[in-house]
Amino acid sequence: MTTPTRTPTGPGPATVTHCPYCALQCATVLTATGSGLTVTPAQFPTNQGRLCHKGWTAPAVLTTPDRLTTPLARSNRSMPLAPVSWDQALGLVAGRLAGLRAGCGPDSVAVFGGGGLTNEKAYQLGKFARVALGTSQVDYNGRFCMSSAAAAGLRAFGCDRGLPFPVTDLAAADTVLLAGANPAETMPPLMAHLDRAALVVIDPRRTPTAERATVHLQPTPGTDLALALGLLHLAVADGWLHQAYVDARTSGFADAWLVAAHWWPERVERVTGVPVADMRAAMRLLGAATNAFVLTGRGSEQHTHGTDTVSAWINLALALGLPGTPGSGYGCLTGQGNGQGGREHGQKADQLPGYRRIDNPAARRHIAHIWGIHPDELPGPGRSAYELLDALGTPTGPKALLVFGSNPVVSAPHATHVADRLAALELLVVADFVPSETAALADVVLPVTQWAEEDGTMTNLEGRVLLRRKALDPPPGVRSDLDVLHELAVRLGQPATRFPTDPQTVFDELRAASAGGAADYAGITYQRLAAGEALHWPCPNPTHPGTPRLFTDTFAHPDGRARFTPVEPGTPTEPPTARFPLLATTGRLLAHYQSGAQTRRVPELAQAAGDMVVEVHPDTANRAGLADGDLTRVISARGEITAVVRTVATARTDTVFLPFHYPGQANANRITNPALDPTSRMPEFKVCAVRLERVA
Ligand code: SF4
Repeated sequence: MTTPTRTPTGPGPATVTHCPYCALQCATVLTATGSGLTVTPAQFPTNQGRLCHKGWTAPAVLTTPDRLTTPLARSNRSMPLAPVSWDQALGLVAGRLAGLRAGCGPDSVAVFGGGGLTNEKAYQLGKFARVALGTSQVDYNGRFCMSSAAAAGLRAFGCDRGLPFPVTDLAAADTVLLAGANPAETMPPLMAHLDRAALVVIDPRRTPTAERATVHLQPTPGTDLALALGLLHLAVADGWLHQAYVDARTSGFADAWLVAAHWWPERVERVTGVPVADMRAAMRLLGAATNAFVLTGRGSEQHTHGTDTVSAWINLALALGLPGTPGSGYGCLTGQGNGQGGREHGQKADQLPGYRRIDNPAARRHIAHIWGIHPDELPGPGRSAYELLDALGTPTGPKALLVFGSNPVVSAPHATHVADRLAALELLVVADFVPSETAALADVVLPVTQWAEEDGTMTNLEGRVLLRRKALDPPPGVRSDLDVLHELAVRLGQPATRFPTDPQTVFDELRAASAGGAADYAGITYQRLAAGEALHWPCPNPTHPGTPRLFTDTFAHPDGRARFTPVEPGTPTEPPTARFPLLATTGRLLAHYQSGAQTRRVPELAQAAGDMVVEVHPDTANRAGLADGDLTRVISARGEITAVVRTVATARTDTVFLPFHYPGQANANRITNPALDPTSRMPEFKVCAVRLERVA
């Protein structure tokens, strides 16, 4: 695919790099041509010479006609944004931030990051928040993405790495259970690793992944936890429990079984709607497999009981003896390109670099030493992502927000409320490369570089650190995020050397900061990555080979054992009612990525995805007086959106599906529920009560 415009001026005519989008981080070759950049897939373990539609068309975002190339600012939100110089923009932002800090304290300013930022940017953003601003108010959109799986992984294994094994291990599986994941649309090249396996797919929707399944279990949204308990019950009752593994490598089975014993299959069928015979078929496939995996995705996580739901799937995997067993395992399919690295290196409110807890005194001492400050100067944990957005502009909340690499006006739940909170701020600053819906609300917009215009590292879904290479210079007027953070830090009184702008220099500091932590990058260098070494963390020294497989001998808890967690089913915060009789669930489309800020600007992808639709069973549509192609309002307790009806015979009659990539009146998150999981603080994107009303 060739895109017109800028001439690449990178290190060579062909640059091996990685896709800007999802956590599979497919390798690509960008080649300079007379008219621009050509992208071709590279041979790499995760994609094996394949790309999805998004990867093939990725260079188009580099040259999108509305690319931001000059800072914009306004003194009054009733005025349009207007071009200003970098000096004016940075001076304005630093002056306002310093004034707020002096007058209202450091927590009056906040930072919101993104799971697409490189490790270097994520690290520097967290450091900037805590050192240059001194605020505890920093979190990122990865909180919406896989924080429930992270919390469940930590309590089960003592360590959270999306896949604790290489993706290529999946190829030898006899059976793979996918709970709430749709890789056939979200990361299609992954499906090639599943060619050999029988798939058990848990999803209320008949997704393209479910079409590939040997057994598709289609539970009522929000009942996955009961289903997982039912399968654990069957594993024990039908003789599939791996007693030797449970005895040797785990603790807490008896407590987990005390709960699961009460979830006999017929009871589970009544709650979930999944027939007992289908549950037994799924359990037979899993239990009889020599090699099997349990993989979870957002469908299990984005609930008020998402952490417990993932724990229930991990309990099943442990009962079958899968985690840490060669050829088998449990893993979470991370969504965003650097969702994993983004939280490992300090964007998350409760974490410091190296996957350290911010409330751990030893961790604080280590990081404070690296940053050249006293441990007491480090702020404590702040608000989680939605709680932070919800507090903006309130009497006790932040009065200014800096957004890097995120578009919360589209991607956060109850998006209209989030837009109201942003509007209540005294200062909103957005650093982005396109005029996103969030940038449109800002007081200051800073144009920054994107993937192929800079070097940086990403950590993919299997904990492998990758070097993304610069292939061309950014357009004139554009600066890197590292440059912006440096300039702001200096204007806020920080020493010029404390916030370097060279990605490799930042990475070397990150390595030192991560040393000794769970996510230890100390032995990973740009030189080793450039030489093609496959380095999965932890990699504690420069001669260490990295750790592609975790837990093969021991789990990360002090006693070396994995822990079962007894978990009880919860119910969605919003059950259907007479006024809102249907359940709405959200998800992704093949042609779009996250808020769509990038992919909606690629004409091929926009055409392939089409306009906003709501998938409805024909009988449900009929009851609402709707037919295929009609325009409908989808209404929840928080508001309404407009979408075109697409009737789908395989849909559940009680459930409608909404993709979440569209802005404005088509934004599914205008109506989603911001209720939070008590452990992970992840919102309940995956289920809310709605009704359909025909648009006249
Ligand atoms: Fe690969 Fe994901 Fe990019 Fe598609 S979006 S090409 S699956 S990295």
